[in-house]
Amino acid sequence: LSERLGGVFDRLTKQGALSDDDIKTALREVRVALLEADVSLPVARDFIKAISDKAAGQAVTKSITPGQQVVKIVHDELVHVLAGDNDNAGELKIDNAPAPILMVGLQGSGKTTTTAKLAKRLKEKQGKRVLMASLDVQRPAAQEQLAVLGTQIGVDTLPIVKGQSAVDIAKRAKQQATMGGYDVYMLDTAGRLHIDEVLMDEVQSVRDIANPRETLLVVDGLTGQDAVNVAEEFDSKVGVSGVVLTRMDGDGRGGAALSMRAVTGKPIKFVGLGEKMDALEEFHPERVAGRILGMGDIVSLVEKAQETIEAEQAERMMKRFQKGQFNMNDLKQQLEQMLKMGGMEGIMGMMPGMGKMKKQVEDAGFDDSILKRQIALINSMTKRERANPKLLQASRKKRIARGAGLEVSELNKLMKMHRQMADMMKKMGKMGKGGMLKKAMG
Ligand code: GDP
Ligand code: MG
Repeated sequence: LSERLGGVFDRLTKQGALSDDDIKTALREVRVALLEADVSLPVARDFIKAISDKAAGQAVTKSITPGQQVVKIVHDELVHVLAGDNDNAGELKIDNAPAPILMVGLQGSGKTTTTAKLAKRLKEKQGKRVLMASLDVQRPAAQEQLAVLGTQIGVDTLPIVKGQSAVDIAKRAKQQATMGGYDVYMLDTAGRLHIDEVLMDEVQSVRDIANPRETLLVVDGLTGQDAVNVAEEFDSKVGVSGVVLTRMDGDGRGGAALSMRAVTGKPIKFVGLGEKMDALEEFHPERVAGRILGMGDIVSLVEKAQETIEAEQAERMMKRFQKGQFNMNDLKQQLEQMLKMGGMEGIMGMMPGMGKMKKQVEDAGFDDSILKRQIALINSMTKRERANPKLLQASRKKRIARGAGLEVSELNKLMKMHRQMADMMKKMGKMGKGGMLKKAMG
């Protein structure tokens, strides 16, 4: 998978500019990657649409790093969807003791295990006194399972009273938590193999008694698209405040996470990474994003390819400068580099000997929008004019300025700057390879 994507992005990098076809090809691969990661079809479709809009908008700028650009757009969009606006992954509302936390989900999704993992975390990381109660009267020995885990992690469990209903147990847990001075009490509910009315009714009754501060839906991260239906059903019936994805230590790629986020908008709070009691961590959107597209490799691959290209480019320019050549194409490349390297501030700071110019630049109120306007001016010149700036006489200047939608005075400033830089480059070029010019050009 990542090889396929790698190939596509590799080609993009070598081409130098992002065409519509490039974007289409890349997005086709991304789409396949999403579907392979079990992202549901409508979600994948919307996602691709969002990316293609963004990529198309950026293609016009003719970025000098097209492959990287696509990779970054895809990655950022994944993180954006996964993270949502203001999720506090790993944080739970547990003020006003005793704070009830309700755990819901299908049978075998990992509710009981996650209940204990969370209790351990609250106890150890936040110093909370936690009471756990199993409301699972369906499965034999389900209550004992939680009691065993409680003993193992040193967290209290509600004493088992046989023959009580889930609702009875919830009431007792609430009472015990209040009287016993607990900070948090956790209600581990029973699951069914599939969503059914009886289960939902029971969970609703329990919710009405406990009035939970958090209702966490536990979902098996290996189940793909099904997870979304489950999430929607639980949310509409009981109201879900957050999601825990279990079995993210498995082979699944975490597409469920993306689908769930996109469809329900519920924050993913935690991720289960194994059967052990400390195999629970806060949800990190970047990690899951990387996992879904297997992109970690690709990002570094593209960056490496990019570095090589830039080094070759720098080498080529250096040779030109040494010969005293510095035309408008060179200037444009420099301006684009400057933008990329953090604008004027960044590049001036890196170039010793730029002191005098730096002052001029500051006096002129130079900022990055000027860089962009200057690039626009150069774009408005013909090939011949760029190669030979001496051609730029009055009538040509007017045409160029009009083409860029700017005043001739701005073009004059650009030309003055070009002359100064050409002089300086000549001097610096004579100082030879290696040194500061190479460093300044990154
Ligand atoms: P419940 O029916 O929802 O309460 O599910 P359980 O908590 O009993 O978990 C069912 C099985 O899944 C148990 O064998 C757990 O050890 C296992 N399990 C739970 N969470 C994880 C996880 O994050 N990773 C792995 N590998 N196994 C898990
Ligand atoms: Mg259970």
